[in-house]
Amino acid sequence: MNLRFFIFIAATFFLFACSDQTSTVSGDNEQGVEIPIDESTIFITNASIIVGNGEVIQGGSVLLEDGLISEVGTNEVAPLNARVINALGKTVMPGFIEGHRHVIQGNPDEWMADRAEASMQEFLEAGFTTVLSAIDAPQILELRRMINEGEMAGPRLITGTFVPVNVLPPTGQQGDPARFDQSRPPGRPTDPADAIPDQVIIDAVQNAADAGYDMVKTVVTVTPGGPAIESLKLMVSEAHRHGLKAIVHAVSVTDALAVLEAQPDHLVHTPHIMQLTEEQAQTIADAGIPMMSTLSTFVPFYDENNQPIFRDAQPYPWNTLNSAGQGPVNGRLLWEAGIVYGFGTDTSYLPRDTLKHELKALHLTFSELDIIKIMTTGTAEAIWMQDEIGTLESGKAADIVILEGNPLEDLYDLLKVNMVIKGGEIVVNKM
Ligand SMILES: [Zn+2]
Repeated sequence: MNLRFFIFIAATFFLFACSDQTSTVSGDNEQGVEIPIDESTIFITNASIIVGNGEVIQGGSVLLEDGLISEVGTNEVAPLNARVINALGKTVMPGFIEGHRHVIQGNPDEWMADRAEASMQEFLEAGFTTVLSAIDAPQILELRRMINEGEMAGPRLITGTFVPVNVLPPTGQQGDPARFDQSRPPGRPTDPADAIPDQVIIDAVQNAADAGYDMVKTVVTVTPGGPAIESLKLMVSEAHRHGLKAIVHAVSVTDALAVLEAQPDHLVHTPHIMQLTEEQAQTIADAGIPMMSTLSTFVPFYDENNQPIFRDAQPYPWNTLNSAGQGPVNGRLLWEAGIVYGFGTDTSYLPRDTLKHELKALHLTFSELDIIKIMTTGTAEAIWMQDEIGTLESGKAADIVILEGNPLEDLYDLLKVNMVIKGGEIVVNKM
């Protein structure tokens, strides 16, 4: 009998005999010398693999080596030094990507001291191996460093900072700015907004680059004869000159259409103020700019007290409920027009809950199959990492979630996370 095959059978038998299904197994060679497990080599077997490119492999196996996926297939043989994980027929899919999140809450220094570690663990336990912070306090850079250097467990972070492109009249209100967004009629300014001097934009982008951010973000509410689009073009070109990405919040149909000519790197929200026509949806999709879903911000979620809550987990602003249906419908129209659509929640509360709420909002107009595409290849492309993450293919990062059940049959099986592997390292193990 082929020795490797024999050891594979023996290892499989050992696994079944063992109550802990994730036990490591080391092989013996003919001389009875134990081969030590190399923790950087993980072999997942007996898996139902959602590759992320539309393919599903039953009875599949995935080999992870040195933080990368090295093989995906069926009936592969475990290397002798591998840690073997018997998936027991469960779903294995790419690690989840949150494409729009606000990570740090309250006083940033206190949050870093008291909450950061638990918060990062909450993302991992919900299955998120990559998170785009669409603006947070500057402490996000230190958090990214700590995670990258292994001082704290957490998802890979992509970080940005804010650059204004116009000055809207003050609203006089405190709290989450999304509650009184001036993109929303009748509060839209009708006079031209004041311009931000070019040098201020140039310096702000320079500062972002110097600080080590990955991107800059702005908010656009166009005003008649106002400066927003010219300033946005400057911001985008300055960002690109420094090798940064430039992302734009444009939540009304008017604003989403207006920002296209500046060619930002993605649109951080689905427009949800006003209904898109099919023609407008086609215009936006044809611009080739990816978009994040963030539907759950505008579709209320009901908490344990049966109160509708907003993205900040505070009571829902009733006056925006009138646009709750437009996000899901506009998202679907854009999808049918061919947009690259990514998963993002724009929320700040418990990641597993925000995943659930975004899934609920997406499921109004998208199938399980489409939502999986959005969460894998769609989001990876929308955050410019399609060569590194988003599918289980050789050469990509070993970011993997093992789920109880099959999310292609029941979407909410995405909430049943048993194991999370980030960069080849097991970071959550509830198998
Ligand atoms: Zn946001």
